[in-house]
Amino acid sequence: MKILNKKYCVTVLDNICFLLVGFLITGCSFGGKLITNLDKPIIDGPYVFEQVDSRLAIGVCEGRIKRFEFSYLPEQVIEYCGKSNTIGKKQPLIINQLVYQGDFNVAAVSDIHGQFRLFYKLLQNNNIIDIDGNWNFNTGHLVVTGDVFDRGVEVTEALWFLYKLENQAAKAGGKLHYLLGNHEVMVLNDDLRYVNDKYLIAAQALKIPYAQLFARGSVLGDWLRSRSVLIKVNGMLFAHGGFHPYLVEQKMSLNTINDIFKQNLVKSELNSSRKEWGDYLHTDNGPIWYRGYFKNEQATLTQIDNLLRHFEITHLVVGHTTQDQIETRYNGKVIAIDARMKAGIRGEILLWRNGEFSRGTIEGQQFLLKEANQANKSSRL
Ligand code: ZN
Repeated sequence: MKILNKKYCVTVLDNICFLLVGFLITGCSFGGKLITNLDKPIIDGPYVFEQVDSRLAIGVCEGRIKRFEFSYLPEQVIEYCGKSNTIGKKQPLIINQLVYQGDFNVAAVSDIHGQFRLFYKLLQNNNIIDIDGNWNFNTGHLVVTGDVFDRGVEVTEALWFLYKLENQAAKAGGKLHYLLGNHEVMVLNDDLRYVNDKYLIAAQALKIPYAQLFARGSVLGDWLRSRSVLIKVNGMLFAHGGFHPYLVEQKMSLNTINDIFKQNLVKSELNSSRKEWGDYLHTDNGPIWYRGYFKNEQATLTQIDNLLRHFEITHLVVGHTTQDQIETRYNGKVIAIDARMKAGIRGEILLWRNGEFSRGTIEGQQFLLKEANQANKSSRL
């Protein structure tokens, strides 16, 4: 991002620049016309870019463009627009481990779609985070099965929150697994069909295309590129969309699926177009798009049993195809966890304690899981 390596102190009277020596922070606040969405001043960011030995943060705060540079530290807290963001080491984390087994609790949420406040409340009322928003799940594993991006207006907040929570979970001996969904992959590939206007307006004001705010060399962009597309925790296999029975026929392993998927993540970063498995795993029957447990050419119970046997799992847990509540299919073997958080009204979290499943609501109530009404096979989108 050559454009970001310039110094940004400007001469226009309306703009303010500052320099704080000691911790070395230089910054500018740009005046002029307020940047708004639906007449409300936009708050978005920060988008943080790695430089040689410093970092550059940019964003829109209360309708004004902000840019500031600060010295690089392996772990640092930056204040931006009245909020703190914790930023970790420069190197992207490479996630190789795809299987976890142990004596800990598990929770899972899917399809947040920019509904950060709702997601926060859901975690808080189900004791995954405490009153201050910090990790409260001890050695538990929280799985977020993708689609944090698009539709809503609090995508960046949700991303930074997950970024922070991952760090806190690791320190507590727990784990946050944020998996890639189709909307993460769409944004990384500059497919902006579902991006809320707010983000396009902010990106335009910043003069950086939205997808480039998550380019390689950006803190969130590198972090997103390090995500896996699947994870197996205590015998439960999680992915955003699901696993097509063809993967069993072809004896594909979890490692191979994840590796090929990741090697083909961002088209513009490949030497040639996606081919064969690289293409298969990124299209309709791949793990981020598949809906065959719910609609289209539906998988049979025998095929589900074959998937469980092949991957040595007890359950398949998926988001992507929206339900009114978390519910099971195929005699409890498939669990559908996208509980319509995207509508911005409610949402649910899957809880697994001592081998027992339940679903937690926004209010913190918990219910046993129920099998979906098989008479109503069509998924409600
Ligand atoms: Zn999806």
